[in-house]
Amino acid sequence: MKHFNHVNAASVDDAVKLLGNSRGKASLMSGGTDLLGVLKDRILSDYPETVINIKTIPDLDRISEDAEGLRIGALARLEDIAQSPTVKAKYKVLAEAAAAVATPQIRRMGTLGGNLCQDVRCWYYRYPHHLGGRMICRRKGKGPCFAIKGDNRYNAILGAKSCFAVCPSDTAVALSALKAEIRIAGADGVRSVPVAGFYRPLGNVLKKDELVTEIAVSCPPEGCRQEFMKLTQRGSVDFSMVSVASVITLRDGICVDARITLGGVAPVPFSAVEAEQAIIGKPVNEIDAEAASEAAVMNAMPLSRNAYKVEITKTLVKRAIMKGLLSGKEIS
Ligand SMILES: Cc1cc2nc3c(=O)[nH]c(=O)nc-3n(C[C@H](O)[C@H](O)[C@H](O)COP(=O)(O)OP(=O)(O)OC[C@H]3O[C@@H](n4cnc5c(N)ncnc54)[C@H](O)[C@@H]3O)c2cc1C
Repeated sequence: MKHFNHVNAASVDDAVKLLGNSRGKASLMSGGTDLLGVLKDRILSDYPETVINIKTIPDLDRISEDAEGLRIGALARLEDIAQSPTVKAKYKVLAEAAAAVATPQIRRMGTLGGNLCQDVRCWYYRYPHHLGGRMICRRKGKGPCFAIKGDNRYNAILGAKSCFAVCPSDTAVALSALKAEIRIAGADGVRSVPVAGFYRPLGNVLKKDELVTEIAVSCPPEGCRQEFMKLTQRGSVDFSMVSVASVITLRDGICVDARITLGGVAPVPFSAVEAEQAIIGKPVNEIDAEAASEAAVMNAMPLSRNAYKVEITKTLVKRAIMKGLLSGKEIS
């Protein structure tokens, strides 16, 4: 592994200062479960001079709830989120998504901030430098997206234009369905962006001197039904081929609000607005769930080897809606 300087940040302000002083040549590290792999394989031409360890910042791993909703520090570990009684009770879709990430070991090291900011897994993008040289692709700023003409079985079917890598984060899908906000600290102060607006086709909105500090989720509507479903190729330890997070609210049997977000199919957590519209205002039943599943993929543009994802997406959307309805489990 190439050498780098390692510094511990004492506070959020300290981390921001360290980032500012590094002139864009530093990387943040939380659990390191993604970053260290990226550095070992030297997949990026920009190798950091300094790695700033932010796990040393006190109190950034808190999970707390008040009348407004849930607040989770960026350093909260995925396993703690999956096991939190508060998260399980009211924000079930997030607990399920966190529990579906990787392995117990990775969940015990990996943090929510790191999960949201992790790099994509497209095998062209992640091609190791020591095996004949890294691949310079669209996402790295130059060149084509090799997946378009190459082996694209795990790439995007929705919303991709220049880079077809999919957003790998399971928690982002659940948090988007919960309309969560990401708090960001930087040299210009603190700002909040909705999870749905955090991702860009080629990355995220973080500036070089910014870090994620907290995720805020407003109380979900009373009586909503939440589901997270993920299909993987392997039975365990695998990224989503397709995932679905749904938060659906019924009043007197009529759907009054629906959030359906898809993972594994687009460069960002994909809001399936057409699917939501297909059930809002209706007494949801199997026919409407079927209509929503068709609507979810109406704009799909599969590549040569990933049309199978269209069928899987339809199936998962329908199952998530029906499971939410049939389980009768309302969040109170
Ligand atoms: C074998 C394996 C299987 C996996 N399976 C899944 C899966 O099924 N689902 C899934 O969602 N993920 C999966 N992952 C990814 C895993 O969840 C991430 O590696 C982990 O969540 C990253 O968290 P971390 O704290 O270790 O981040 P780090 O590795 O420390 O950081 C990851 C990236 O985020 C940046 N970063 C970290 N914290 C912050 C912050 N607070 N603000 C701004 N930037 C930050 C870092 O600079 C780095 O670029 C898998 C990983 C492995 C190795």
